[in-house]
Amino acid sequence: MRTYEVRTYGCQMNVHDSERLRGLLEDAGYVRAPEGDQADVVVFNTCAVRENADNKLYGNLGHLAPVKAKNPGMQIAVGGCLAQKDKASITKKAPWVDVVFGTHNIGSLPVLLERARVQKESQVEILESLEVFPSTLPTRRESPYSAWVSISVGCNNTCTFCIVPALRGREKDRRPGDVLAEVEALVAEGVLEVTLLGQNVNSYGVEFGDRYAFGKLLRACGTIDGLERVRFTSPHPRDFTADVIEAMAETPNVMPSLHMPLQSGSDRILKSMRRSYRRDRYLKIIEDVRTAMPDAAITTDIIVGFPGETEEDFQGTLDVVRQARFAGAFTFQYSKRPGTPAESMEEQVPRHVVQDRYERLVALQDEMAWEENKKIVGRSLEVLVAEGEGRKDAATHRLSGRARDNRLVHFALPEGVEAPRPGDLATVEVTYGAPHHLVADVFGSVRRTRAGDAWEAAQGQPASTPGVMLGMPTIGAQPLEPAVGGCQVG
Ligand code: SF4
Repeated sequence: MRTYEVRTYGCQMNVHDSERLRGLLEDAGYVRAPEGDQADVVVFNTCAVRENADNKLYGNLGHLAPVKAKNPGMQIAVGGCLAQKDKASITKKAPWVDVVFGTHNIGSLPVLLERARVQKESQVEILESLEVFPSTLPTRRESPYSAWVSISVGCNNTCTFCIVPALRGREKDRRPGDVLAEVEALVAEGVLEVTLLGQNVNSYGVEFGDRYAFGKLLRACGTIDGLERVRFTSPHPRDFTADVIEAMAETPNVMPSLHMPLQSGSDRILKSMRRSYRRDRYLKIIEDVRTAMPDAAITTDIIVGFPGETEEDFQGTLDVVRQARFAGAFTFQYSKRPGTPAESMEEQVPRHVVQDRYERLVALQDEMAWEENKKIVGRSLEVLVAEGEGRKDAATHRLSGRARDNRLVHFALPEGVEAPRPGDLATVEVTYGAPHHLVADVFGSVRRTRAGDAWEAAQGQPASTPGVMLGMPTIGAQPLEPAVGGCQVG
């Protein structure tokens, strides 16, 4: 049996697609290569957001050339946003690549690999619009108890720093019935947490003419037995409506955590980014969310150094950060992105100025996050136990997990207490608030869940120490490779 490895870069949409790529390959008879082994098929699921995304890909392909020369049966495939953008130029630059496929036809991978093998010729197949919804393809999920559920692909916005609309096309929405059927099937398999995924979840329903579809979808998720946690990414401030806030506040299994990209606190820069909202509207949404859910944790994305940004504009961003009191933020130094309108804008900000602003922003945001975390000391939290070790110190061995507001919690287990399994829910009391995580050294109780059973079954062995789960833009630990500003899907 031929083995495979999928290497994933970029945003959650790519993490979701990579689960489909693994599902497709396993359905076609491939098996996952054991960690560290050289796989027969290496698939790159690329991101086009970073300025040096190209160099990174060609660097990796360069490393594989001699490996493939020694293993003629080996195959290399390149997919994702960079493949959608660069198309056949990838096989021109790296003729040892066997397959290039795009964001609209990930389902074609197994057939293209076979065709390349039989015809001993590289296969390049890029479609300009979606072939089938990736959600309809077989999947191999990373986590037995947490899942991504795509509700839409593509985006109708035109933010000037973003390449997504050019590479993933205009927004296409899945029918609510299909989304809910997938969620019910996942819960039946033991999943207790789902993350609804879209470039802009707030415009969900635009394609079938229902602008309140997203709020209704959240409420419908509230009726699914066994579904304990519903999250979503990413909302867009322009389309964020009151019915969504009400649905979040009134649906018990919708989590009080919101990742809402700000990008800039200057109206002049927001206009230049073509973000279609202004800072006061953004702050009003934050205020309304906090009125409806006082304990909600709000995180964001911010870009510093966007072309034309002055010190005054930057002070506008710092001011919003002070007012919004984010629990966490992805902060990005603007860098030119090939193929975006901002690439050719005048007044590109000098690197040293961008670096200085970046450091000042991070320092302020860390201070805010720390103050917010300190307020949680003494509170009892329900934690979804994750895989892997928690934060250890000389005296204490800890496990880790996510609170309902998605904060990262490291919690201690008293002597003699059986370790909860990943997927179980533990109740703990917070004893310390750190800048990017919470510590809970007062242990309460464990609720064993079907998700914990699913994890145990997936291990095929009795409960062992848990591991780290890939998840939402997290408060504390960083996911795979944060995309650069925007397109953190959204
Ligand atoms: S930043 Fe987000 S909302 Fe804007 S174009 Fe990109 S994907 Fe769409």
